[in-house]
This record gives sequence, C-alpha cells and structure tokens, in this order.
Amino acid sequence: MSSRLRIAVQSKGRLAEGGMDLLKRCGLRFAYGRDKLHQRAENMDVDLMLVRDDDIPNFVASGACDYGIVGENVLAEEQAAGGRAQELEIALRLGFAGCTLKLAAAEGGEITSVKDLDGKAVATSYPALTAKYLADNGVKAEIVEMRGSVEVAPRLRIADAICDLVSSGATLQANGLKAFETVLESEAVLIRRKSGRDATADEIANILMRRARGVIDCAQTKYIMLNAPVDRLEAIRSLLPGADAPTVAQIAGRDDVVALHAVCRERVFWETLEALEKEGARAILVLPIEKMLA
Ligand code: ATP
Ligand code: ZN
Repeated sequence: MSSRLRIAVQSKGRLAEGGMDLLKRCGLRFAYGRDKLHQRAENMDVDLMLVRDDDIPNFVASGACDYGIVGENVLAEEQAAGGRAQELEIALRLGFAGCTLKLAAAEGGEITSVKDLDGKAVATSYPALTAKYLADNGVKAEIVEMRGSVEVAPRLRIADAICDLVSSGATLQANGLKAFETVLESEAVLIRRKSGRDATADEIANILMRRARGVIDCAQTKYIMLNAPVDRLEAIRSLLPGADAPTVAQIAGRDDVVALHAVCRERVFWETLEALEKEGARAILVLPIEKMLA
C-alpha cells in the first residue's frame, strides 16, 4: 500500500489549468520544471499523474491512481458505456469547467426536439450517453461516433444532428446550429473508487477536499462592510445575498448609525449595492475572501 495520495490530472487542456490552480490554492506546492508524467508535491504526500483526460476514469478504477480530476461528462460517458467506471463515484464537485452536453441541429430546420430524431443520424463524441438519452426518450436513431469537430457533421451531411459539449454556444452559432435539448450538465469533478481505497490516501484526500470546499466557496463569497441607519437595519439585512447572522457593531460617537459586517455566500451585484444605498447604507465595501474554513 502506498503512503502517498496519487491524483490523476489532465496533462493539457481545459481541466489541466483549473485543476492545477485548485490544487495550488489548497496549499500544494510543486517543484519548478515538471516531469512529463509525474509531479511530486514538495510539502504534502501527494503525487500527480499527468494524463489524457479520457484515460482518467480507467486510471482511477484500476487503482493506478487514488483520485482523479475529470469532466463529469467523461465520467458519465464511461459509466454509460459500462465497464469499470461503474465502480467510481464523485467525491467532490469542483465548480469549474462548466459545460452542457446538448443535442443540436440546423437552425430553422425541421429537427426541433428529440422526438424528431427518429430514424435520423446523430454525430457525437459521447456515443453511450447519447444512445441512452435517445433510448430513454423512445427514439431510434443512428449514432455516428466522431472524435472531434462534431459541429461540422450536419453541414457535411454525415449526420442530421449532433450531441456535443456547449459552453458559450458560439461554436454552434458559427456552424448554423441551434441546441434544442440538454442531455447532461457538467463540471469538473473529483472522482475515486467507491470501495477498496487506501486509508492513508483517503486521509490526505480528506484534508485537501476540506480545503477545496473552502476555495470553491470563496470564489463567489464576499465580505461586505457598511454603515446602516439603525432604523433601516432590518431592511438592509434582508438585501444581503446569502448572508447568515451579520455582525452589528457600534460606531464611536453615533447612536443613529451602526456598522454591519457580513459574509455573503451568493454573488454580490452592482444592483444589490445600489439597493443597499437606497435604504440608507453608506461606506459600502465589498471584499474578496481569500481563505475560509466553515
Ligand atoms: P483531448 O482529449 O484530445 O485532450 P478534450 O476535448 O477532451 O481533448 P478539453 O478540450 O481540454 O479536452 O476538454 C476537457 C473537458 O473540459 C471536457 O471534457 C469538459 O468537461 C470541459 N469543457 C468545458 N467547456 C468545454 C467546451 N466548451 N468544450 C469542450 N469541453 C469543455
Ligand atoms: Zn479528452
């Protein structure tokens, strides 16, 4: 049994940067100049294995790694395809690399719902998820598997529709396509085997996951400080997004105004600040929170 935690991370791509960034924010330090396949943390018993994201579910299922950072879409596809990925579970949702697996077809065309796909061909890099979604909807369609550039399939008449990952929707639009159904909402997730895990590796992982929760929460959590007229205190409190019990403090030499400090767990928009101001709040400060253990 190893006494170190081995985490599989994408070597390059959309998950690589976000994954490394999160691990560093959790306090891991890595030596400069990295090996092609391995990276050893200097300050914790953690090793990273840098691999292709599509291989990560198998690496973790087989026990080559204890944990892995992968898109939920890849995990779900491997699980839908059967095999060892079914022994995996999500340990933590990581809050980055958000995207949606969607069905799309030519804008203004005759395909506008999943039912219209009966007898048609659908191009995708996610054959198992797509097949399952179609079957769940009682639709019989041909699946055309493509490794990339799925969005060109309808124009090339390789397929009538596609099932592909969408984030901003710009790629679909540029190819004259319109999404009409959501198959899966995805984000980066931390995965592990459901059972048969190494106890020491789990212990280290638990420390990292506690920190990661703090990091993920901090990303949208803000610390708000403001001065509030005592008679508007309740109205002002109710405007604070996702704040539990704020601190109310006396201001020296004033009995009509108090200082209010609160941690807001939801996004704070300009509109919120303007509404606070309208209720009489003054000297409003919104501060980022760097670390948080809740
Ligand atoms: P390869 O396997 O060839 O290295 P890839 O397409 O799997 O390439 P990336 O493009 O880095 O690798 O995507 C990795 C993950 O990033 C996806 O599986 C998905 O979870 C996530 N992602 C977020 N937004 C998008 C998007 N717009 N298109 C594709 N993936 C996205
Ligand atoms: Zn990939």
